Amino acid sequence: RGVQERTFLAVKPDGVQRRLVGEIVRRFEGMGLKLVALKLVQVSEELLREHYADLRTHPFYDCLVRYMGSGPVVAMVWQGLDVVRVSKVLIGATDPLDAEPGTIRGDFCVEVGKNLIHGSDSVESARREIALWFRVEEILCWEDSASHWL
Ligand code: ADP
Repeated sequence: RGVQERTFLAVKPDGVQRRLVGEIVRRFEGMGLKLVALKLVQVSEELLREHYADLRTHPFYDCLVRYMGSGPVVAMVWQGLDVVRVSKVLIGATDPLDAEPGTIRGDFCVEVGKNLIHGSDSVESARREIALWFRVEEILCWEDSASHWL
């Protein structure tokens, strides 16, 4: 079995505008993952440039920063066994045309420039991104009272 991890997920502005927040949250809840932080935020350009710093040499970097700042984003932290890997499977390939049906991107989008959701790609990036987007006190550790998911 895997290990308990945390990951950072964000429903991008197109996902919020298309009313897909509930659908997306439902998929992660359905996997039994635990929501430990969530907020709707209009993100500053500064934070977005830092968040995507690794991609700054790519030609689409400015466009990506503009897209992510074009409206509110739903930022979340999820916890669970192998949650980083599980989330990437639920999200699907970066280019929605390569994403399998049944994944979020495979089911709901077609453009790489509007691919609905971000998920951290490793435990290290998750740690960096969570620290960038959330204050410590915004992340809640709560115990399951039902044994259903344990
Ligand atoms: P992922 O979000 O699947 O981890 P990357 O980290 O490679 O993918 O890229 C970050 C984001 O940059 C993507 O989700 C997408 O919004 C955008 N992006 C990636 N490649 C392109 C591209 N060729 N053209 C436009 N935007 C892109």
